[in-house]
Amino acid sequence: YTVPKAFNEPVKSYAPGTTERELTLNSFKEQYNQTVDVPLYIGGEEIRTGNTKNLFPPFDHKHHLGTYHLADKALVEKAISTALEARVKWSAMPWEHRASIFLKAAELIAGPYRAKLNAATMIAQAKTLHQAEIDAACEFIDFLRFNVEFMTQIYAEQPISTDGVWNRLEHRPLEGFIYAITPFNFTAIAGNLPASVALMGNVVVWKPSATQIYSANVIVEIFREAGLPDGVINVIYGDSAMITDTLLASPDFAGIHFTGSTSVFNSMWEKIGKNINNYKTYPRIVGETGGKDFVIAHPSSHAKEVAVALTRGSFEYQGQKCSAASRAYVPASLWGDIKNYMIADLKTIKMGSPEDPTNFVSSVISESSFDKLAKYIEQAKLDSDAEIIAGGNYDKSVGYFIEPTVIVTTNPKYETMQTELFGPVLTIYVYEDAKWSETLKLVDETSAYALTGAIFSQCRYAIDEATKALVNAAGNFYINDKPTGAVVGQQPFGGARASGTNDKAGSILNLLRWVSPRTIKETF
Ligand code: GLU
Repeated sequence: YTVPKAFNEPVKSYAPGTTERELTLNSFKEQYNQTVDVPLYIGGEEIRTGNTKNLFPPFDHKHHLGTYHLADKALVEKAISTALEARVKWSAMPWEHRASIFLKAAELIAGPYRAKLNAATMIAQAKTLHQAEIDAACEFIDFLRFNVEFMTQIYAEQPISTDGVWNRLEHRPLEGFIYAITPFNFTAIAGNLPASVALMGNVVVWKPSATQIYSANVIVEIFREAGLPDGVINVIYGDSAMITDTLLASPDFAGIHFTGSTSVFNSMWEKIGKNINNYKTYPRIVGETGGKDFVIAHPSSHAKEVAVALTRGSFEYQGQKCSAASRAYVPASLWGDIKNYMIADLKTIKMGSPEDPTNFVSSVISESSFDKLAKYIEQAKLDSDAEIIAGGNYDKSVGYFIEPTVIVTTNPKYETMQTELFGPVLTIYVYEDAKWSETLKLVDETSAYALTGAIFSQCRYAIDEATKALVNAAGNFYINDKPTGAVVGQQPFGGARASGTNDKAGSILNLLRWVSPRTIKETF
């Protein structure tokens, strides 16, 4: 069979008076004024343990959204055995049926569930209308559609045969279950981590981030309605360390599909190493972790373009994209203009509840994130080699609000030029124009992470030089564009060094990790 040709879901405008705006804001209100009681979902069964925690929106933390139930160790073990039971039929099911389920999920999100999933993402993760749309609707749908197409490309990959011999590759699912861990910052990542793995015939235990549970619950509803058989994706919440230890201790653990922090990924890798003799097969370890993403402007670049890229790249979704620009290098000759444009832009930015579409930013995700960011901002106020030129205020009385903040430093190795903050704080270093080549070297040296980066220049030699000098400093390298907003099928996403295993989400390369091919030689 051939599958329907994948295409990127068009982004809706949400301009005043549009149907999508009305539907989404109505859904926001409706969901906001109800409470939910989110169960675990194991083997198609909703399980309520009675051991619960509260849900609240980060921009209004006194508002009660409901509760979610926590798994104990026995339930985590049950999730494993249930997944393995489901594997028997699922792994043997012809691929077109698996494809149909995920294509149907894509259609459900494109149509009847779009407003609900977008609104749930706005509520749970403090995303504006536009940020929810490009994530929970478009990118989610894109992952589902494109992964189906990539799957068929993988299955088409066959060796050559000779006279009297037929050589075949059978693209088997992995033997065991996969542990998927998704972060809060993109609802769409749930359209990839558990879903791509299941699409390839694997079974999954999925643990969404605690700050994403409210929207993850809507995703479970969508997968169920799409007809995903019981036990293929089992969803658990609870104590992360206990869940991880229990899953990684199983001899049937066959891989991890992870997006989250470098330190969590490293600790899982260590645990997998310690258990290595107990597994039936070598587990696949796939992770997208942190970033400290850069923007470098060459003296030939346009100041206004750089300023817009910095404002959007650093502050959209409160800087909580792995790809967000968080350090910039600008030439002294352009600094005055870039600074003026940015300060003027930032003055017009409104911050508040995502329910008000005129707000460009909302709160950060949690109190711990807020406290960490506030600490770095206070430190910058004290340090003689740093100066805050925009923002710098914060308030957690209603929600975890941090103003978009720009720090300028005279020290290119200043702490916030190197430490990942994951919030709306950008640090800028102004270099002397004549030191362009040295600056490139410096950027590379200070790139312990290597996820995204952008260079702005109108000079082809400078672009060429930067492309070469920074060959290992970013897995996604943008020329004359902000470093955020990778589109599935267009810009495969991921980085190396401390940013992960670079298994390119949104491309065939990611799906290749979820098969274990068998070579069959048949002699006639
Ligand atoms: N793919 C997203 C982007 O390009 C970032 C994904 C992430 O934060 O994990 O902006």
